[in-house]
Amino acid sequence: MIIRTAMPMLFLTLPVISQTRLEAALEKQQSALEELYKELHQSPELSFMEFNTATRMAGELRSLGFDVHEGIGGNTLVGLLRNGEGPVVMVRTDMDALPIEERTGLPYESKVITSDLEGNQVPAMHACGHDMHMTVWTGTARVMAAMKGEWKGTLMMIAQQAEERSGGAKNAIEAGLYERFPVPDYALAYHVSERLPAGSIGYCAGPIMAGVSSVDITVHGEGGHGAQPDRTIDPIVLASRLVVDLQTIVSRELSPLQPAVVTVGSIHGGTKHNIIPEEVKLQLTIRYYDQEVGEQIIAALKRIGNGLAASAGLPPEKYPEVKVQDESTPPLVNDPQLTSRLAGVLETSLGADHVLEMDPLMVGEDFGRYGLTPEDVPICLMWLGSIDPEKFASGEPIPGLHTAYYFPDYPATIHTGVEGMVSMLMDLMAP
Ligand SMILES: [Zn+2]
Ligand SMILES: [Zn+2]
Repeated sequence: MIIRTAMPMLFLTLPVISQTRLEAALEKQQSALEELYKELHQSPELSFMEFNTATRMAGELRSLGFDVHEGIGGNTLVGLLRNGEGPVVMVRTDMDALPIEERTGLPYESKVITSDLEGNQVPAMHACGHDMHMTVWTGTARVMAAMKGEWKGTLMMIAQQAEERSGGAKNAIEAGLYERFPVPDYALAYHVSERLPAGSIGYCAGPIMAGVSSVDITVHGEGGHGAQPDRTIDPIVLASRLVVDLQTIVSRELSPLQPAVVTVGSIHGGTKHNIIPEEVKLQLTIRYYDQEVGEQIIAALKRIGNGLAASAGLPPEKYPEVKVQDESTPPLVNDPQLTSRLAGVLETSLGADHVLEMDPLMVGEDFGRYGLTPEDVPICLMWLGSIDPEKFASGEPIPGLHTAYYFPDYPATIHTGVEGMVSMLMDLMAP
């Protein structure tokens, strides 16, 4: 909850930036940015494969005078624009697309078929809007470079690989992001949203996206003939009981005030009608806003699984195997003070009608990792409205992110995205 009464205080500290000069600088870039958007949209690359995209982004920053460092834990790159004494502010975009065949029917839709990390030929589409993030990021770099006389500090632009597979932020941090480059005083990002019209920005102070853990469970048993269940320990029955018992973790073990999700998305066992198999495999997604709750859920999964196996008479070496995948993403928690400050800046720059407080979502985003290192960097991710306002108001169903039909109203989304980000930076980096 944002404390509205604090806002007028914050307005006093706003720098006197010239909205007119910002508008003029952006106006000069608008059509080039629209072209860049379409170009990026038509050349999607999948997670960890963002080779050409990274080169393109590095070139953009280099042409503006940034000191560019490529290949940070993969395709991630960092550009620094040093502009005197002042705060270091990091602005992050992601670069990867998804293996989805686009069905928007737009004249600039993606027709790309490409190789994924495992070597399969798959279609690719920027269905999560990372092409829009890169366009707004580039526009921000261009306008900030053009308005260098009006801010002080170091602008640190980072283009990150593999957000969708959760190896991006982690690899960059492990490759020494905060040792090789100045530790940011603030880190900012956008994610496009289909829950807001283009022209608007949404904020959420505190937890905004969930921690996500992917968990594999193997339920063991003792197989045999389907006609002789008495001579087996049936893992299909055990796995079925497990699925039902897991529902009590959220409903009976966690605080009712602590949101969490335990979903079994896949269950596989057996080969034939009359064979009791040796094992059943389950795949789960776990979602939470608090890392400790995530750990509590994993511990409960193990305890419940072990209890069921023991009650069926299995020895401890045949208790279920619970494996938490490395792809897990921690919760994304916006710094409440920074978020309130920036929401106030956006209200001044875009008008209060265009800045909305939003509910958190249970989806995941690895931007949260930049705020979870020992350096304790205050982070803020804002939702960038992306749907044509008329369509948004009409009430017709709007395709969501990660679908073959999602597309942003790109001219307005670019304009608001750059205007909003530059306004926030100008406030944080006021001379
Ligand atoms: Zn996504
Ligand atoms: Zn995304």
